[in-house]
Amino acid sequence: MSGLDRRRFLTGAGFTAAALGAGVTEKLAALGVGPRQDAGAQPAAETVIPPQNPIIGIQIDAISFLDEGTEKVLDILQEKAGVNALFMGSFTYGTGITGRQIEGHPFPDHGVQKYQDFSRGHGGDYATPHLEYYKDTALKPEKAPDYGKVDCLELVLPAAKKRGIKVFAWSEDVFGSHIPNIEKFQVRDLYGRNAHTVCFNNPDVHKFWLALQEDFIRSYDIDGIMWGSERYGAFCNMFESVHQRNGNDPSRVTCFCEFCQAKAKSRGIDVQRAFAGFHELEKWVKACRAGNKPTDGHYVTFWRILFRYPELLAWETLWNDSVHETYEAIYKQTKSIRSSAQVGWHVWHALSFSPYFRAQTDLKKLSDYSDYLKVTVYNNLGGTRMETYITSVSDTVYGDMPIDEALQLEYRIMNLRERGYAELPYTGLSPDYVYRETKRAVEDVKGSKTQIWPGLDVDIANVDLQFSRSSPPVVNACTKACFQGGGEGLVISRKYSEMRLANLAAVGEALREMKIIA
Ligand SMILES: [Zn+2]
Repeated sequence: MSGLDRRRFLTGAGFTAAALGAGVTEKLAALGVGPRQDAGAQPAAETVIPPQNPIIGIQIDAISFLDEGTEKVLDILQEKAGVNALFMGSFTYGTGITGRQIEGHPFPDHGVQKYQDFSRGHGGDYATPHLEYYKDTALKPEKAPDYGKVDCLELVLPAAKKRGIKVFAWSEDVFGSHIPNIEKFQVRDLYGRNAHTVCFNNPDVHKFWLALQEDFIRSYDIDGIMWGSERYGAFCNMFESVHQRNGNDPSRVTCFCEFCQAKAKSRGIDVQRAFAGFHELEKWVKACRAGNKPTDGHYVTFWRILFRYPELLAWETLWNDSVHETYEAIYKQTKSIRSSAQVGWHVWHALSFSPYFRAQTDLKKLSDYSDYLKVTVYNNLGGTRMETYITSVSDTVYGDMPIDEALQLEYRIMNLRERGYAELPYTGLSPDYVYRETKRAVEDVKGSKTQIWPGLDVDIANVDLQFSRSSPPVVNACTKACFQGGGEGLVISRKYSEMRLANLAAVGEALREMKIIA
């Protein structure tokens, strides 16, 4: 193929009102929103050469193979989307990466048309825990009860191997609150109360994550692992949120457990000053949300607290360093067991919204212990999340300006060019967003071994049924944008059991148009 041909098929990932999906154009018309006029939505024409044989991964749970048949599902994935890697939901207590469609959302056009029956319980290790790996930790794994004795990895490995499809064990930092003795491992809030997540700085938790990955890599002939944590520390949780429009309760943010306190001390952080700073920030957040307008403004008084209590930032850095130390430990352990295994991370979507989280998440540094990064670029859900994020900070750090202006400031800071506040949940973010975020990640890790495999949004359940949904033209454009941005693979997200087949096929169409698959 000539360079000219490559350039031709890499252009034209446009975004039109027609591509928004059924019903959305009417809602936009009701809002007075017409087709987007600015050119920002179009990824610039690039001369990027698509990689040969990139990873085309999909996140999927055992339930889909049980409901639809292993061979049949693999046929669909290969034929429609050229899938060559399965990211099997292997450990979680959440419903985002395992289980059928999330309750209340429409069923896709395949699989059993029933919501999950949780009467047997839900969550845990969807493979088989081998207890010899957990001798050094008091936190023990539970076999997920959802599908009886089914082992999600054993279920797919033979059939996948036969077809040359890779298998990754995909686990996330989501714990249940009903696990025996879990309170010993949980994070603590500013007032010493337990919250439902577990603390990286608790030695048993750290050893648990290592044991879980060791179990996966020694017990199964898998090709790699992916782990992810969708959390930041107490500081950001106080005044902003990607998931709660009204923000979090600032008195319930974490972690202030004995282990975090000891680690802070060992870093020379004055723990009492840190607590005093968080109490000041809590008061400020509560006053801002109650509608108070500080005489010197929201932004200035926010900074006044930071200057007075720099321990706030040191505490946040401690948290993020602890997350990254977990990455590093898992990476080193896994590579020492099997150097050919591919080890990487699901990088939380907050990277696209929170400048504070982006500052704390230096991909260049992560590249030292990452074979790949699944950078989350969920475009459709991203519209709702951007709207949620900017709402959550509109009465705290950005309280000095109208919300639309705060959004424009946000776009400038984050190098995005997207729709206005009222439209976002009804339109999602554009393929240009996927392109920009992929390109940024690729440039961040340039010169390292780390590959960027963007996490592509295909029918991720949006928060409200009125909000935008994935549609084939947009999925097609976003698939291309992953490679236009220099991605070396992609991970179709969030789980097959919520995806419509036409949208899955749009991934394959884009890959064929780009001559990535035959
Ligand atoms: Zn802690």
